[in-house]
Amino acid sequence: MERGITDLALFGGTPVFKEDRRVGRPNPGLRDRFLERMNTVLDNEWLTNMGPLMNEFEQRVAEAAGVRHAISVCNATVGLQLLAGETHTGEAEAGDEVIVPALTFIATGHAVRWRGLRPVFCDVDPVTGLIDPDQVEALITPRTRAIIGVHLWGQPCDVDRLEKIAASNRLRLYFDAAPAFGCTYGDEPIGRFGDAAVFSFHATKIVNSFEGGAVVTDDDALAERVRASRNFGTGPDGTIETSGTNGKLNEAAAAMGLTSLEALDENIACNRANFLTYVEALADVPGVTVQEFDSRHRNNHHYMMVTVSEEEAGLHRDALLDVLRAENILAQPYFAQALHQMTPYRGSTPVSLPGAEGLCERLLALPTGAAVSAEDVRTISDVIRTAVANGPGITARRKSELAAAGGE
Ligand SMILES: *Cc1c(COP(=O)(O)O)cnc(C)c1O
Repeated sequence: MERGITDLALFGGTPVFKEDRRVGRPNPGLRDRFLERMNTVLDNEWLTNMGPLMNEFEQRVAEAAGVRHAISVCNATVGLQLLAGETHTGEAEAGDEVIVPALTFIATGHAVRWRGLRPVFCDVDPVTGLIDPDQVEALITPRTRAIIGVHLWGQPCDVDRLEKIAASNRLRLYFDAAPAFGCTYGDEPIGRFGDAAVFSFHATKIVNSFEGGAVVTDDDALAERVRASRNFGTGPDGTIETSGTNGKLNEAAAAMGLTSLEALDENIACNRANFLTYVEALADVPGVTVQEFDSRHRNNHHYMMVTVSEEEAGLHRDALLDVLRAENILAQPYFAQALHQMTPYRGSTPVSLPGAEGLCERLLALPTGAAVSAEDVRTISDVIRTAVANGPGITARRKSELAAAGGE
């Protein structure tokens, strides 16, 4: 159906959806299996502290990630904190530097700072959003101890180059693989690269344990240190070996994680189908570009990313966001700010990282997942098409409304 500007809910039309279509909605499913496992937890009278379900979950995660060790943690942020302090020469010291991309979820930077270390923000490729290895090299100083690459939206970083850079500078290389469970680099599971990687099992991720995560590695010594530091620094014989925190995954979380893991392949298939429908439905919309993925690797398609070019679409990403939200399509501006632009990290001398900053003006995450049907995807794409067809008109109206509301 052809729709005009006044058909849009933002300008008085009826919303296309009565119920919200959301980003990162937990995938439905498997209630019975979860409750069965919860009964086991209660029967066991073992609620946390390296319980049987946690052990089983770690085993399943290690198998899926193709690594020897999976150490579960209460969330990925804590997993990153445990790793950030691990250097080739023992525990990092206050003021040591860790290079992280400027375009990522805030947790990557915070984990470094929370350990008393200095996050050094590196620019990203202006198209893929992935950390730029050339710029990583330029940021290395005598205080650098580690690089944390982020497999943003499940795309693998340039792991070969980063591994070479880390090796030749004797740095640790970690990957924040929080959004990338089920993804690969070539044919290999994405968790196998660098010294270690961290997955998130937060409720909004493709596998969820309510809150949770895992550090995965093939390095036996590093695994032992992380296993200890997640449990107050307690070694296998019960004595305190290192500093540490309480980062354990409880049994209820493990019950959910195990259940959610069983639905992984099905959910990837569902996301992939939605991705292909979006690609087709948005192909003829000028200025709205689906984030393409390098087909040499497998993506979990948990994040349905597009970029909005204001010059070509006639409206800014934020205007399109307003249009979509009025239709109960709760798209998200992932990310609207790079880390170096955020209050805790904005130094007195402004840093310019154009790759990250440019993407922050254009990125939009659209609803996907098992709760979003092919028909929903077409409806959402139609709204986007109508918005872009009326781009300049929407931009003008928004400006005059903002002015009337007392803006500039
Ligand atoms: C989700 C996410 C995190 C944080 O994971 P939690 O389990 O919520 O702590 C960190 N980094 C990235 C890139 C993420 O997407």
